[in-house]
Amino acid sequence: MKRKRKLIRQLYPSYVAVALVSVAAMAWIAISAVSQLSLEENIAGLKSQALLVEDILGKEFSPDRSAPIDAICKKVGSRMPVRITVMTTDGKVLGDSDEDPARMGDHSTRPEVKEAMAGKVGTARRYSFTLNRKMVYVAIPLRRDGELAGIVRTALPVTELDKTLRKIFLQIAAESIVVILLTAGISLFVANRINRTIAAMKNAAVRFAGGDLQFRLKAPDTEEMSTLAEALNTMAAQLHERLSTITSQRNQLEAVLSNMIESVLVTDEDGRITRLNQSAEKLLGCKEDKVRGRTVQEAVRNTALNKFVRDAFIHGGTREADITFVGNPDRYLQAHGTKLDDASGRSMGALVVLNDVTRLKNLERIRRDFVANVSHELKTPITSIKGFLETLKDGALHDPENADRFLSIILKQTDRMNMIIEDLLTLSRIERDQEQGSTRLERGRIIDVLEAVKGACLPKAEQKDIELHFSCEDAITARINARLLEQAIANLVDNAIKYSGPGSKVEVSCKLSGGEIIIEVADQGVGIEKEHLERIFERFYRVDKARSNKEGGTGLGLAIVRHIVNSHNGEILVASSPGEGSTFTIRIPAD
Ligand code: ADP
Repeated sequence: MKRKRKLIRQLYPSYVAVALVSVAAMAWIAISAVSQLSLEENIAGLKSQALLVEDILGKEFSPDRSAPIDAICKKVGSRMPVRITVMTTDGKVLGDSDEDPARMGDHSTRPEVKEAMAGKVGTARRYSFTLNRKMVYVAIPLRRDGELAGIVRTALPVTELDKTLRKIFLQIAAESIVVILLTAGISLFVANRINRTIAAMKNAAVRFAGGDLQFRLKAPDTEEMSTLAEALNTMAAQLHERLSTITSQRNQLEAVLSNMIESVLVTDEDGRITRLNQSAEKLLGCKEDKVRGRTVQEAVRNTALNKFVRDAFIHGGTREADITFVGNPDRYLQAHGTKLDDASGRSMGALVVLNDVTRLKNLERIRRDFVANVSHELKTPITSIKGFLETLKDGALHDPENADRFLSIILKQTDRMNMIIEDLLTLSRIERDQEQGSTRLERGRIIDVLEAVKGACLPKAEQKDIELHFSCEDAITARINARLLEQAIANLVDNAIKYSGPGSKVEVSCKLSGGEIIIEVADQGVGIEKEHLERIFERFYRVDKARSNKEGGTGLGLAIVRHIVNSHNGEILVASSPGEGSTFTIRIPAD
């Protein structure tokens, strides 16, 4: 780029040039006037001196009396700083103050003399070869009785005049230089002041451009600059206000986006990601600054989502789709997409809002599985009951031996159905209380709960020849729902008895550790394979269904235990080795 000249460099030389030219012109006019004036003054002097000589010559003048005329010329000439020459009307010199007239030639050709010959006052300025210098001449006609009788000429060396003029010129020149210097100085001062003000404006503009919109310019002295400064300040104030509004709106939008549970993904018109909110970062497992500028396919590697974003952009309108993210575990997303247009209707990209519906899907699946499981669990006894009732109806009722056996089976299956329904009702009650937060917890001694469990389970243990052992300190108390906790521990002890062989031992203990109450139910039974450990707390999950059924299990016992423990703000853990036994541990906060 062509380098710009500074304003001061443009203004200052022109100021000085204008001053120089005007001062020079003034000086020239002054010198011309003075030299003209002084010339005229000299001519007037020479003329009066010539008239004086004419007077002095008086009656003495006669063209043939050269000697006395010359003597008068020399005498008067010695008293005046002028040269005096007296001539005849045809130019012959009769007397001269500085020269011998005999040596002087014919003067009739001299311009001043010619004019005097014509009866006028003649003036001339020229070089005198007689005196070897430049002279001013005035010649007047000398009249006797009204007739032209001769010519008187006075002359002054120009050097005298020049000397005076030079003096005047030098004085004017000196004064001009002073004026020029003064003008240059004042111009420099003024130019610098303008420059400083402009520099302050420039500086302010640079600061505004750099974002310092709270900076304010001081008002300069000049009206125009002051108006400009005010305009700049107003502009900065308005910009600041607008920026603040934009910033606060952006912050608001940022806060809304960050706090949204829904995941938001925005792309530009090329399908490149421009925004991902926090929820989307978490859901898609990528950071916004890492994926900004990349396509959805590059960033997320999900063809369905990529296609969905592209369709939202290409087809416009609002779109909806279910998208699955295959992984461990699978995730299900509900996507809403729309094309983004700016105020002028120009396409900016696409906006996609994603909802993680995995939990809902899972809940739905669980509900579906649960209905299927309940139906399945109930169907077995109902089928059996129906079968036996049909057999009885078809004649077995009249066979007392079989009829009695069939009725016993029907009763057993009915009991089983009743047990399942009882357990389901218990589960649903606990769940409902838990959801409503209405499970009543009261301060109670754990030993009392264990005593009740012992009372309920001892007969079954004795029946199976299993030794039941309880240990618990009296003082241990907690905020509990004694009825529910008793049911949970009883379920665990019941399982321990169910899944242990005769002669083995079941130990129930309770201790206090680090602010927690730890209740353990340990048996020496069949144990549980590792792969089942995670799932045994699910409803209707059974490791060995035949054995569970044989033992009168419903598959709901541990699900009930987990719900009860949860409503006590605790947790249930299991450790087991197949063939050696299992230990179930309940941890609840101490009182
Ligand atoms: P069930 O009514 O069948 O006992 P639960 O929910 O109480 O149902 O237990 C689920 C499954 O966990 C049981 O079917 C059984 O296979 C296993 N289980 C529970 N407790 C024990 C235990 N003490 N020893 C071995 N297996 C157990």
